[in-house]
Amino acid sequence: MKKVLIANRGEIALRVHRACQEMGIRTVAVHSTADETAMHVRLADESVCIGPPPARESYLNVANILSAAAITGADAIHPGYGFLSENAKFAEMVEAHGFTFIGPTADHIRMMGDKITAKDTMRRLGVPLVPGSKGALSSLEEARSVAEEVMYPVLIKAAAGGGGRGMKVARDASEIEEAWRVARTEAKAAFGNDEVYLEKYLDRPRHIELQVLADTHGNVVHFGERDCSLQRRHQKLVEEAGSPVLTPAERDALGAQVTAGLRQLGYRNAGTLEFLWQDGQFAFIEMNTRLQVEHPVTEMVCGVDLVREQIRVAAGEKLGYGQEDVRFSGHAIECRVTAEHPVTFAPSPGRVTTYHAPGGLGVRVDSALYSGYAVPPHYDSLVAKLIVHAPTRAQAIARTRRALDEMVVDGIETTLPLHKRIMEDPEFQAGDYTIHWLERFVGRGG
Ligand code: ADP
Repeated sequence: MKKVLIANRGEIALRVHRACQEMGIRTVAVHSTADETAMHVRLADESVCIGPPPARESYLNVANILSAAAITGADAIHPGYGFLSENAKFAEMVEAHGFTFIGPTADHIRMMGDKITAKDTMRRLGVPLVPGSKGALSSLEEARSVAEEVMYPVLIKAAAGGGGRGMKVARDASEIEEAWRVARTEAKAAFGNDEVYLEKYLDRPRHIELQVLADTHGNVVHFGERDCSLQRRHQKLVEEAGSPVLTPAERDALGAQVTAGLRQLGYRNAGTLEFLWQDGQFAFIEMNTRLQVEHPVTEMVCGVDLVREQIRVAAGEKLGYGQEDVRFSGHAIECRVTAEHPVTFAPSPGRVTTYHAPGGLGVRVDSALYSGYAVPPHYDSLVAKLIVHAPTRAQAIARTRRALDEMVVDGIETTLPLHKRIMEDPEFQAGDYTIHWLERFVGRGG
């Protein structure tokens, strides 16, 4: 592999570029007309404009991306996260045009992209699930009867769901009809597919996910868990590795079960299995067949470069280590800094007048920001990820607070002040939180 086209933008495009450069691989950036001055375009070896600002005409424009790969003579395409990263058709077209797709097979993307098929597959592999309907719901009556069986509250979820959309809670029988209707309408509008299923709504779970990596030679290893319970509107804001509540024995047991299952499946590439954890029990909710936003906390505690490994595996190489070689050291925390008002969450695109990244021991910033850069209004509001690594969780929190104080992003509103308040909170510091904690924290103004 000599040249990789990065079919993405922002910090993740830089992240992939950095791994490539260190491996002696040249990079091709693609960009919309709104991103002509973006950092990923400035750093890449070559760049190609693939269309106007709206993502569906540029970053989702498969024909233009494939043409850019052909014109520049790229060998492979890395999709990053979001955009086309979990689009099975795209993966197929990439390979049909003779490029390597740095990701799983199209069949595995399809299998896990439909959450109903994903749950069926995991059930077959013996992975524990959240109780609920076995497959899609065919009618409101069926929704009612499954809800009675698993007991309210319940959640109606879109089979094609993502980003927390197409998901509705019914607290009791009087709310089921509305939840059924709204979830299906939202799913149809967002994903063009109104298929829904039902899950018991857990009242105080943590979101704990497992990072895995698999090659094409049957080797599957896991890199432990991330705790991503700090969410607002089902979107993650702060992530930690490891989870404050998991013991090494629990991690090993889950890891052994999951890696055995994926080996049976013949999975390749990086992947994440997401679970809800409550009262010591894991229940699978979905699998992401791509690199995730929060992957750096795992990299910090395991000392692994996950993008490098993705590229090696895609090139057909063997994982250079077994499970016994994966060691966990210290604690890592990631803060997702977005261009949003820290209290109202109103979007705040615009020109960054001053940008200063924090530094020092154990501090990593993954960001495409620079002073004078104008954050365009067209895309995701994530502008920087602050990742901190330290020997203990308490030291990681102290270091995160210190780094947040050093960080300067002037000219636009960001969520930096919210992150400072979270880090100062005694409940957060005690690790005492569930997926509902942040909504309440934000609701009472921090
Ligand atoms: P998406 O793909 O839209 O992100 P997920 O299935 O991953 O949807 O769920 C997103 C978040 O919604 C989870 O991290 C969790 O906070 C919440 N959630 C999902 N399923 C349940 C459930 N059965 N009970 C309680 N909360 C849930």
